[in-house]
Amino acid sequence: MHEVSIAESLIALIRRHMPTNGKLIRATVRIGPMHGVVSEAMGMAWNIASSEAGWPAAQLNIITPPWRLRCVSCGRCWAPATVDEHCVCGFTKADIMGGDEFQLDSIEVDCPVKHSKRRSTAGVRARGRTLKKGVNHEHQSSNC
Ligand SMILES: [Zn+2]
Repeated sequence: MHEVSIAESLIALIRRHMPTNGKLIRATVRIGPMHGVVSEAMGMAWNIASSEAGWPAAQLNIITPPWRLRCVSCGRCWAPATVDEHCVCGFTKADIMGGDEFQLDSIEVDCPVKHSKRRSTAGVRARGRTLKKGVNHEHQSSNC
């Protein structure tokens, strides 16, 4: 159940982007299939971690980007249904080019503003921040 440590890492990352007195409404995270996250377990882990953080109503959106493979023989790149799919050229070896993403995409925060509550999604985007916890970037490449 490594979802618990993933949820805790997420909370720690979100905290760094939270405005003072802000309340988390929703977090969107991009987790590649390589992490093997089970969405039910992730939901449970998230509920516990977000409650402990003081945001019991916060929702978690998980975006699962597809695997990306590149054929070793012909260089074709594609998004396979499963990671062991073979290339259309018949070659059975492919490099994994994507699927290990772990990125906080955005957070939606309720910020108390003097007399009223205002919903804000602007200014708290954390695009491009990647948690490298146990992630192997050996096969990452931008050519695919
Ligand atoms: Zn091929």
